[in-house]
Amino acid sequence: MQAIKPLLGATRASPSALPEGSVKPAVSRPALDTYSVGGSVRADAALHAPPSFQVNGKTVVFGDIKKVDSTVILDVAARKSTVKAVVEIELSEKGQPAIELVPRATKVTVNGKEVDPASYSDVRDPANASSFKVLGVDLEPGVHRVEVEYELTAGVRYSGDSVEVFARKSDLENRAMDEQYFPTNLEYDQYPGSIAFDIRGTEVKHRVMSNGDVSEVDGKLVVTFPAHYNTASLFLNVINPARFSISEDVFKSASGAEIPITVYTPGSLAPGKAPDRLGDGVGLKPPPPTVPNGDSNLSGMEAAHRGVELTKQALAKHEKDFGAYPHPRVLVRVSGSGGMEYSGATETSLNALEHELHHQWFARSAQPANGNAGWIDEAAASWNDRGYPTSRSEPGVPRKLSGFPAWHRITPQAAYNHGASLMAFLDGVFAPKGGFRPVLKKFFEAYTKKVFTTEQFLEFLKKEGAGLGVDFDALFKRQVYGTGLHLMKKASKAD
Ligand SMILES: [Zn+2]
Repeated sequence: MQAIKPLLGATRASPSALPEGSVKPAVSRPALDTYSVGGSVRADAALHAPPSFQVNGKTVVFGDIKKVDSTVILDVAARKSTVKAVVEIELSEKGQPAIELVPRATKVTVNGKEVDPASYSDVRDPANASSFKVLGVDLEPGVHRVEVEYELTAGVRYSGDSVEVFARKSDLENRAMDEQYFPTNLEYDQYPGSIAFDIRGTEVKHRVMSNGDVSEVDGKLVVTFPAHYNTASLFLNVINPARFSISEDVFKSASGAEIPITVYTPGSLAPGKAPDRLGDGVGLKPPPPTVPNGDSNLSGMEAAHRGVELTKQALAKHEKDFGAYPHPRVLVRVSGSGGMEYSGATETSLNALEHELHHQWFARSAQPANGNAGWIDEAAASWNDRGYPTSRSEPGVPRKLSGFPAWHRITPQAAYNHGASLMAFLDGVFAPKGGFRPVLKKFFEAYTKKVFTTEQFLEFLKKEGAGLGVDFDALFKRQVYGTGLHLMKKASKAD
């Protein structure tokens, strides 16, 4: 994500309002809750799940989702959107699984048996870092089938005889990933699935703009997404295509592959209006007052065409540094300010496009496993924003980029400036070996389509930096884990 101008605002606290390195202000828990953290070490190291914990006598466990298949009924005539989602989840220990979802369930079935939907409710973790929806049923280790029904309001806007669904996400806010729309897990968990849109009560032919595969099955628009996706990966925008300017082209990858490019912009631009201001505002913007035509349509198409050219340039640049573009297609929605990255897709201003496409390697192919690893891709993309400078000195003021509680889910603001400065310093450190970009390239190759933690990144640097005479553990303590921050705070209090 490009943090300079937060994409989401108004109804949520602006992330930029928080000081660098801070987490969300603590909310006091009800005094009745009593917590303890489970000591079980997970056998599957690749899972990276946070530890289970006990609260009020129940054990909350983090499982491994195998699949999520959802059917969304969009009734344009009735202005009503309902979802039925089927989740297959494997548990390695007994307990009540977190299956994250923000909307309130109206019906819940576990292994074919209906349970009280009110028992599927929000639970805070013991560190008060976040909260998640937890099934109020004790389950044994093994695979379970959970069906959830609910009304979908987030990201849905009906207008005239059409509907737009935009599953917009943010890694700078809590509970702002897929859980706003569909049952999911925290970022550590990768799983495949499908979403079928059943659009009723209209004659308008809608289109799904998605990084997944889209097909039409029995009149439904079906998106399927691959096994390496996590809660941050999927881009989903159901549109009435008559209300958008759409430009399509092909990027010839260095690998020889021909990558389809689709760039689209909502509605049309008034002549003379800067394209990067398209669609400013919170959530979904109202549809344009008229169907695009004439000059205003040309402006919208100009923005889309410019987006195509900028996409080709940025991908060619990033391929030189990090190797072949790692997704089957690239989909760009030009709207909003700043931007957000998805796997092979982005919503972005034209200004932030190169930044978001950098994330196609770091963030949405090699993916952070949790909020403690989210700083790495932002630091790398922001280092690119600055033109990849080299520094011989460490950033002067330590900031906390990682080492938050295991349930923490937000990328800290310090990832951008401080993170970029740290990357510049690492470029100086690795200068005898050709700089830091080749190290990032190797790291990307090791974690393509996988999730990684800060600790794995550190281990990688230690291996690659062997013989450089640098104590990477000490460097990370100072510049990543923020050791020394509390000393600084004490000092400033004493002032
Ligand atoms: Zn970013």
